[in-house]
Amino acid sequence: MSYDSNNIFAKILRGEIPSHRVYEDDDAVAFMDVMPQANGHTLVIPKVPSRNILDADPATLARVIPVVQKVAIAAKEAFDADGVTVIQFNEPAAGQTVYHLHFHIIPRIEGVPLKP
Ligand code: 5GP
Repeated sequence: MSYDSNNIFAKILRGEIPSHRVYEDDDAVAFMDVMPQANGHTLVIPKVPSRNILDADPATLARVIPVVQKVAIAAKEAFDADGVTVIQFNEPAAGQTVYHLHFHIIPRIEGVPLKP
């Protein structure tokens, strides 16, 4: 499958639809998930388009992972979490619903399950 530049996250990147951005640099943007599975659920997306990790340029991955780490550390602190789930999905069979590479950063409190 190819990249569709009309996907929701591409529109968020272009500022065509609103988002609550919490971090941005030359390589990536982080914004709050509209349907959070826990308090502080944040998404990190690279600015360079790819559908998911399967077609991503390794150079893009090398630039986005430090942002994932930065946001994970900040979210753990901001939401006074005990841990952080970092997860991402590739293709519908794996649960992907928006086809621009993204990483979920989900602060976790001990014993509290994720919302479905
Ligand atoms: P996926 O299953 O593709 O990994 O997850 C896509 C995520 O994007 C979901 O957690 C969903 O809540 C989130 N999402 C979908 N549409 C929007 C939107 O318009 N704005 C924001 N901020 N998040 C969205």
